[in-house]
Amino acid sequence: MEQIQKQRDFFESQGTHDIYWRKARLRELQQAIKTNESALYEAFKHDLGKSQFEAYTTEIAIVYREIKYMLQNLDRLSLAKRVRTPWVLMGKRSEIRKQPRGNVLIMSPFNYPVQLSLVPLVGAIAAGNTAIVKLSEFTPSINQVLINMLNVTFDDHYIYAMDGDVSVNTKLLDASFDFIFFTGSPHVGKIVMRAASEHLTPVILELGGKSPAIVLDDAKIKAAAQKIIWGKLINTGQTCVAPDYVLVHESRYDDLVEAMKKAIESFYGQDIKNNRDYGRIVNETHAKRLRLIISDNKENIIYGGDSEGRYVAPTLLRDTILDDEIFGPILPIQTFKEIHEVKETIAKHPNPLALYLFTETEDHPLLNEVRFGGGIVNDTVLHLVNDRLPFGGVRTSGIGHYHGEHSFDAFSHVQGIMHSTSRSLPVMYPPYTSWYKRLKIIRKVF
Ligand code: NAD
Repeated sequence: MEQIQKQRDFFESQGTHDIYWRKARLRELQQAIKTNESALYEAFKHDLGKSQFEAYTTEIAIVYREIKYMLQNLDRLSLAKRVRTPWVLMGKRSEIRKQPRGNVLIMSPFNYPVQLSLVPLVGAIAAGNTAIVKLSEFTPSINQVLINMLNVTFDDHYIYAMDGDVSVNTKLLDASFDFIFFTGSPHVGKIVMRAASEHLTPVILELGGKSPAIVLDDAKIKAAAQKIIWGKLINTGQTCVAPDYVLVHESRYDDLVEAMKKAIESFYGQDIKNNRDYGRIVNETHAKRLRLIISDNKENIIYGGDSEGRYVAPTLLRDTILDDEIFGPILPIQTFKEIHEVKETIAKHPNPLALYLFTETEDHPLLNEVRFGGGIVNDTVLHLVNDRLPFGGVRTSGIGHYHGEHSFDAFSHVQGIMHSTSRSLPVMYPPYTSWYKRLKIIRKVF
């Protein structure tokens, strides 16, 4: 692909080096999104049945925030940082510099096509990289707006956006990049990592998994129910950090289920299918997959269960934790008696991307006793909105993290530089005559 070579040449020419130049590109991106906002809303409605409110709050606003953060902090982030030098290295000084990684590849999934392509892109621009942005093939209307927006705003020797199926990804992965930022399923994450290993290309993998919501016996049930249902049903459950299943203390099960039913109906009414705020599954294949889950677990349905075309109703299931990530509006709820049962269930679906704990207990020990990417006590999903928090998974749910300063670091090579004087340090040099004496001195000073 000619753009890859063009981007290599542009990067080597120091084209992205200047901080003011990078800021100007961020402002151009900000303006381009503003210009294309209404086209994006139309496209969201078409591809995901998504309301303008949700499209703004869960996609566009997050990109604006990230751009704002970088514009406000780029000077500070890009400064070399002086660090102490041990006195044995007298006369030298040390600093940490952040160099751009170079030519980067960003691959995004279908579920948040704007946020998950543009937030990494903001990091790539801020840190001084060039970028090829490869969008998922499942959101054609959104892609059309994004591709047009990025390719009109930027020269292709700097940023180039494209979509396409697996064959396009395979070709891109055959090429040599300086860094790959991939968001998608653990299955494809392995393919990306395997391909990257051929070139020893570093990767960040933002993957999925089964994120539990845990409701302890001392939780405020009404608020817990609303927060879990909200986090589950935004984007019709197609959210990497959506609660995948609920573990509730047996003493609170009935109250929680009742409160969840009420929450669903207070958010979307009783005619959910015709409610404009409730979205659609991205395509027929994914809708079919979800229908199969529902039909396989008919006897466990406690709410919802209907589905037609790309519409799948909010569905609550009793005692049916599935092996695979659900990625749709189906929510299994299971009871537990003792906290060790919670740990055992999580261990069967290891390394959740997120964990949500509902409790009135301060600093509950469970937070330290299970491994997960990140999480919230008494809410869902919103941790990813705070650009001061690193966002990422652990092992099967991901490698590396980003957002805000962490994005700048993710897209940078962190380099240690020492500045020395022209004076020599003869005690170190061969021939090692009187080595015993010299070693004695060295042992003392180190
Ligand atoms: P996916 O892995 O199927 O696709 C992601 C990208 O990989 C797309 O661009 C797609 O074209 C490409 N791709 C698909 N098959 C490929 C193959 N065989 N070889 C090379 N490339 C291939 O993911 P998806 O279905 O679009 O998105 C859903 C998944 O993404 C879920 O697992 C979800 O949890 C995860 N996700 C994670 C995050 C996060 O931030 N951690 C965010 C959103 C989604």
